[in-house]
Amino acid sequence: MRLDALAGNAALKQQLSAQEKGRGLSHAYLISGPAGSGKRTLARLLCAAMVCTGEGERPCGACPACKKVLSGIHPDVIQVGEDGKDISVGQAREARSDAYIRPNEGARKVYVFHNAQDMTAAAQNALLKLLEEGPAYAAFLLLAENPGSVLTTIRSRCEGAALTPVTAAEAEYELARRFPHLPREQRHAAAKRCGGLLGRAVAELEGQETGEQLQVEASQFLDLITQKNELEFAAWCVCLEKWERGDLVLLLEHLQALLRDALALQRGLSPTAASPGELPVLQGAAALPPQKLLALAELIRKLRNDAAFHVNTGQLCGALAAGVYGGNL
Ligand SMILES: [Zn+2]
Repeated sequence: MRLDALAGNAALKQQLSAQEKGRGLSHAYLISGPAGSGKRTLARLLCAAMVCTGEGERPCGACPACKKVLSGIHPDVIQVGEDGKDISVGQAREARSDAYIRPNEGARKVYVFHNAQDMTAAAQNALLKLLEEGPAYAAFLLLAENPGSVLTTIRSRCEGAALTPVTAAEAEYELARRFPHLPREQRHAAAKRCGGLLGRAVAELEGQETGEQLQVEASQFLDLITQKNELEFAAWCVCLEKWERGDLVLLLEHLQALLRDALALQRGLSPTAASPGELPVLQGAAALPPQKLLALAELIRKLRNDAAFHVNTGQLCGALAAGVYGGNL
């Protein structure tokens, strides 16, 4: 099996590969390990291997089925409880009736149950029936931080796949592959801090990247407003439309904080939210008339609130462009 996307865990990867070559993959796995140990990565690889239509070693990563699994859109791979909420007995029953509907595209249908350790006993019992009596084409992957909190009856019907922390060298190697543009020291520090739980280091570096980009964009916003560069501001708003809503919300919140800082500066107070790199644009913004700053702050506050009501990013960016240069400010 091609499992190199999962860092470390050499023994487990060898065991799964041998199994796939021999009697074939099992119909149920209990994938366990602490948060950040790679449970989702392994689940994704197993799902892809089960529905892969490529030749040779699986998952090939290149066939349409693999590509759909890797981008999370394969209709025969069903995620249950991915939103982090506890899986209810209703959801377990729903999966049970859905399992009897034949696969849409492939030969198999794979169900991934997240946070299996938090399922109620009733939900686990509903799941147990599915594991025992489910159709032959159905496969089940249960993800749990602590396999001990999953009912013994369920555990006994699943193959165990226990993930272990990776070494600092393995973590660093993987981080270099995913974040080649970041400085080596930054990756090294994140690899050391994560204690072998690679997912934590990835989340940390992604968070830092987002934070840095937010600061760059927020500075750009204040700069364009201060310079009254209407054309460039419109172009900047168009670029923002491609952002994910969550990131856009973070940007609006950071802008709210910066505008508060600019108003504080006008009153001779010290800024609290701006990073040292943002101080020059903040001083530029503080030179704007107070009414304009207040109107801007109100506009950003309103857009931040609208963002909570499923307004799409295109509408938010359009409203931002119209709000700033629509004659109200
Ligand atoms: Zn494939």
